[in-house]
Amino acid sequence: MNTYIDVHCHLCDGVPHGARDASGFICNTTCESQWDAMIGAHTKYSCLYPAIGIHPWYIDDVTPGWDTRLIEKIQVYSNLMIGEIGLDRSRPGIENQQDVFARQMEIAVRFHRPVHIHCVRAWDLILGQLKQMPLLPPVIVLHRFNANADIMRKLMKYDNIYYSFAQHEPAATIVPKDRILVESDGVADIYLKNIIDNMAADRGENGDTWADVIHNNTMRVIQHG
Ligand SMILES: [Zn+2]
Repeated sequence: MNTYIDVHCHLCDGVPHGARDASGFICNTTCESQWDAMIGAHTKYSCLYPAIGIHPWYIDDVTPGWDTRLIEKIQVYSNLMIGEIGLDRSRPGIENQQDVFARQMEIAVRFHRPVHIHCVRAWDLILGQLKQMPLLPPVIVLHRFNANADIMRKLMKYDNIYYSFAQHEPAATIVPKDRILVESDGVADIYLKNIIDNMAADRGENGDTWADVIHNNTMRVIQHG
């Protein structure tokens, strides 16, 4: 019997909202006003692996001292990851997004926490950020991953990057076996088994074996690499 953990979803009314066949959920916040609810939910549901952070769509909601408050919570809860953070060129304010992203990356390094990253049309900036950091977070999850071969080649230089898929994509056939993950991205009628079976078939692997590989990868993310 395979066990499935949904690597990227959110809370809905305080409850993990993800794949139908998941027995564990990495849940992310998008803004500071959700942090306390996430912390509250994770003390209630043992199936919830929490991440708190500021999403690039919600940069305008940040208030002074947000980073200090993030650090305070990270220090209290040793299992908190940082997410959902990232960069999105389809949304305004890319420079402000970069400031908030960079700060959250620094905090992840300082407190040795995984990060969950959203990227839309900003791979050059993500790669630039990674390049300029002397140290990186222990685990970097690229959620709903989809990038071209050139970007993938550059990303694959980093052995702490994990690639999470919400559907079977061509890229899923070439990412390293030990760095592949699956997620619902909050779509509740998704079955992770279907995504995994499609990937496995494409890679000439057995579905159950592949589910175990993905489960082990997921546990490494949760246990901070
Ligand atoms: Zn998300």
